[in-house]
Amino acid sequence: MMSVVLPSYNEEGMIEKTAKVLTEILDSEKIDHELIFVNDGSSDNTQFEIEKVADKYPNVRYVMFSRNFGKEAAIFAGLAISKGECVAVMDCDLQHPPATLVEMYRLWEQGYEVIEGVKKTRGKESVMYKVCAKTFYGIMSKATKIDMSRASDFKLLDRKAVNSLLAIPEYHVFFRAMSSWIGYKTTSVEFEVQEREVGESKWSFKSLVKYAINNIAEYSSAPLHIVTWTGLIVFIIAVILGIQTLIQFFLGKAAEGFTTVILLQLFTASILMIGIGIVGFYLSKVYDEVKRRPRYIISKMK
Ligand code: UDP
Ligand code: MG
Repeated sequence: MMSVVLPSYNEEGMIEKTAKVLTEILDSEKIDHELIFVNDGSSDNTQFEIEKVADKYPNVRYVMFSRNFGKEAAIFAGLAISKGECVAVMDCDLQHPPATLVEMYRLWEQGYEVIEGVKKTRGKESVMYKVCAKTFYGIMSKATKIDMSRASDFKLLDRKAVNSLLAIPEYHVFFRAMSSWIGYKTTSVEFEVQEREVGESKWSFKSLVKYAINNIAEYSSAPLHIVTWTGLIVFIIAVILGIQTLIQFFLGKAAEGFTTVILLQLFTASILMIGIGIVGFYLSKVYDEVKRRPRYIISKMK
């Protein structure tokens, strides 16, 4: 059996259609399956829609969160309750084409254990968005040593891979990167991102920037090393300037004026503050991890 995990946040207009389209296509391909909708604390009628669909279709199951915990948490909740020998994760707005899901399933039957959906093109995005996405994925690819530029959350995993993911105890999870990190026999399938039919993207520019910074901090310690290197460079400059100042002093021509002092003070103070800020950010990540809070809270499930 295949499980399909569908994280849903304020998708009232899409639930019924997605359930119908997926059931039809998977039935016609004779693929035994279950659909798992994860309601990520929607504020619209998504919960009602999911319950309605679950009454109508015997292959539909669900998890309801007590509040919005984010897509990553929703994906992991779906993985945790899935029963299939393989588990697919896809968006419930049908932007990930169901035909590709069938293609992935066939590859799984051939023995692949991780089948990744790769975006053929990045769909309709503004220039600004493209530049930001490129920078983010550039850094992430370096940090994870995996090419992430066209990665998506559309994937099919074998039970073994799912269990490996679920065994990861981290509070902050990043499905896209972790499903590559675990290894296994991997292949990829290209797909064209579809237009969203109903509703709108849940990502604002601000939320994307936050998401990017968080994921970089969780996957890479490079910013911490940058602090050290900046310190070293400033130290070298300080030594050179110090020697020069001393020579001038002994020659009887001391550097003059408060201006120099003020500029130096401002410069070092800001470098120090930024350094402390970066260290503090990592500290807050460690704090989140040691608190050992659950990734999500379930209010209802079937
Ligand atoms: N989603 C979620 N929780 C959130 C935000 C989004 O479960 O906090 C789900 C959403 O319902 C959709 C998928 O994640 O199924 C992708 O979201 P969206 O379509 O808004 O992103 P985009 O396709 O624009 O990248
Ligand atoms: Mg979408």
